[in-house]
Amino acid sequence: MINAADVLRGWKAILAGRTPFLSIEITKECPLTCPGCYAYGIDHLGGDTVLRQVSDFQGQKLVDRVMKLIDAYRPLHVSFVGGEPLVRFRELEQIFPLVEARGIHIQLVTSAVRPIPAGWSDINRMTIAVSIDGLAPEHDARRKPATYERILKNIEGQRITVHCTITRQMTERPGYLPEFIQFWSAVPNVEKIWFSLFTPQVGEDSYEILPWDKRNEVIRELVELTQKFPKLAMPPGVLKALADPPSNPQSCIFAKTTTTVTADLTSRITPCQFGGTPDCAQCGCMASAGLKAVGDVRLPFFGIKAGSIYNASLQVGSVVARMRKLPNVTSNGSGLPKAG
Ligand code: SF4
Ligand code: SF4
Repeated sequence: MINAADVLRGWKAILAGRTPFLSIEITKECPLTCPGCYAYGIDHLGGDTVLRQVSDFQGQKLVDRVMKLIDAYRPLHVSFVGGEPLVRFRELEQIFPLVEARGIHIQLVTSAVRPIPAGWSDINRMTIAVSIDGLAPEHDARRKPATYERILKNIEGQRITVHCTITRQMTERPGYLPEFIQFWSAVPNVEKIWFSLFTPQVGEDSYEILPWDKRNEVIRELVELTQKFPKLAMPPGVLKALADPPSNPQSCIFAKTTTTVTADLTSRITPCQFGGTPDCAQCGCMASAGLKAVGDVRLPFFGIKAGSIYNASLQVGSVVARMRKLPNVTSNGSGLPKAG
């Protein structure tokens, strides 16, 4: 859990021209082929290359380069995403203790397609987020071989957070979300349940997109469900922010405070983890909503919103970064230190 001291550290990082959040696509590989996966989308890397074509690393080279990147950014929080990060579980076994020793929060985002190594959830400041796409019939069809049956085996002995991205299909049957939350609340290894909403690219017309009436219905339903299911960790400020997403990446605190790096450990993904041209006005990313909720808090002493102070700090930070030749926290696709 990020506390007040961490927030202060994050703020200091911004003023020093660094981003407090780092997200690393640790591998280009994934044994799954989920429909609608943004990581393998043609726009994700913003050019002619797609994730499966990127040159990635393995073994000691990967460990060394990841740690070099982390030491360059000195983030408050680092997310390991993919591809499927568990493809590189041997390297992560070496990386996690090194990151833990630096006092950095770690988030692993996985489909739990293979067993999560023993002890990982006991690492300090660790969150293991397992992506689950709805109830078993829908999830298993999309995420095979990471089926419900396999996930339940692979999370044995761990403490995990379930993360589900709600699509339009999940809104078509009344009672779908409570059934999902009830199922995962009953699993003892599950500590928390998070939801995001499907985020399209600009101009996308995929059926998974929630029309606004459905989106508002889902948000209202989640407000009620938080009263009933203690493991559903969707604070009111986050739900409120999901109903009113940032209009563009420039007004997204999450995008401006997070550096996302693809599997070559050199190229940045912009403007946020989705890459390409995400439709911010329909953003359903829980992390973005979480930081918007923080930014919307009015600071009693200053009488202004925390977001205004963040924005002023980001401007100071970008000047400091230029002066000190640090990675510029507000630039797109430039300034990332070479990892090797
Ligand atoms: S498991 Fe994740 S990275 Fe792999 S295909 Fe599915 S959504 Fe994409
Ligand atoms: S996280 Fe959402 S709001 Fe922020 S830049 Fe990405 S799509 Fe836009």
